[in-house]
Amino acid sequence: MRFVYICNQCAGYIGELELNNWDETMLGFDTLTLAEKQEFLDWDFQQQQGTVKAICDACYQAKMAEQVFYAEINNSLLH
Ligand SMILES: [Zn+2]
Repeated sequence: MRFVYICNQCAGYIGELELNNWDETMLGFDTLTLAEKQEFLDWDFQQQQGTVKAICDACYQAKMAEQVFYAEINNSLLH
């Protein structure tokens, strides 16, 4: 099975894995709820390919920067 990781924010290609023996626990999918699985995972068993929506480095950094930004605003409001 081939797993292709795509960024959920910018739809950019992140990378891919090719695994012959795998299970949901190994990939961390067992921690997702059914709704999350439907949202983030997309299987094509005929093509032996799974698409996994994740977050790329650039979007992750942007998100983190945003959180720090808002945290600082909150801090300055408190003081
Ligand atoms: Zn991205």
